[in-house]
Amino acid sequence: MAPDPPPKRFGEFALIAKLFAPLAAKDKGAFALSDDAAVVSVPAGSELVVTTDTVVEGVHFLRDDPAELIAKKALRVNLSDLAAKGAVPKSYLLALSLPKWVDNQWLTRFAAGLAEDQNRYAVTLIGGDTTSSPSTVAITITALGLAESGRMLRRAGARPRDIVFVSGTIGDAGAGLAALRGEGTGLSDFVRSALVSRYQLPEPRLALGRALVGLASAALDVSDGLIADIGHIAEVSGVKISIDAVRVPVSASTRALWGEGNDATVRAATAGDDYEIAFTAPASARARVEALARETGVDIHEIGRVDAGKGVLLLDERNRALPVTRTGFTHF
Ligand code: ADP
Ligand code: MG
Repeated sequence: MAPDPPPKRFGEFALIAKLFAPLAAKDKGAFALSDDAAVVSVPAGSELVVTTDTVVEGVHFLRDDPAELIAKKALRVNLSDLAAKGAVPKSYLLALSLPKWVDNQWLTRFAAGLAEDQNRYAVTLIGGDTTSSPSTVAITITALGLAESGRMLRRAGARPRDIVFVSGTIGDAGAGLAALRGEGTGLSDFVRSALVSRYQLPEPRLALGRALVGLASAALDVSDGLIADIGHIAEVSGVKISIDAVRVPVSASTRALWGEGNDATVRAATAGDDYEIAFTAPASARARVEALARETGVDIHEIGRVDAGKGVLLLDERNRALPVTRTGFTHF
């Protein structure tokens, strides 16, 4: 009798045992994903920093995107939150909602993407949940990290006369998404793929975030759009923040798509998905921040200042507020 053909898709428990349990091997508290819950130990003097983010097919990624990249993005957007809080990532939980079209090949590639990033960022899967879904994939990851007690970087804490900084470049991921949607047909393949990869594969700024503990007065990761997110710092810190448009770091690749000038800067600064760190610090920290850029290999740009008042402004060369109708991405 011929052997049965392999199933197109593992059952729920085979999926967990075959693909996910190996990802949990390094953390004893995960009990090889064989128990109802995991145990997380926290060293004396540390606190657990916890964050969760969902990525949904059709909203954050497209069905045809490589499954490895979808897995990495789902994990990295969470690690970016930990980075912005100055926390050291430790482990994560994975809640998966899977429609019928997802097959073993997709799942195997998904797990392989997680395995690669687990090595890269020294994190381990410790649990999760698996359910069916009527039509689209949804992935919720909850990431756990450690911070020295009482020292997690907060959004609240920016003070008048502080300076505003941002890492890396702003707008590349949004430009990459625009390119995927058909904008910029004249772009070179090199520029196009550089932009698309910033959209598909963010790089959490973990070393920078760690180094900002004790230095930054407020910090967050830029996920919705630079202006919207700086607005969050302004609001919870109870201050006004002014950003100089000419100092917002927009890459040559994004300029190639959206052009020079302030309109393109507004677009970049409201696009979202950057996963850079925006932070404030007193002027006395400027030299230390410059040194950090060299030590971590991540560019850091001074882009604005904090004043008494409220709200966020994007200023042109003559200090006039640029019209920003939509400060960033919102779901509803
Ligand atoms: P319950 O019966 O409580 O719903 P499950 O059957 O959902 O438990 O899960 C059994 C074990 O498998 C648990 O340890 C859970 O954390 C783990 N698990 C389930 N789905 C996933 C997943 N997608 N990723 C990692 N671990 C998972
Ligand atoms: Mg369950």
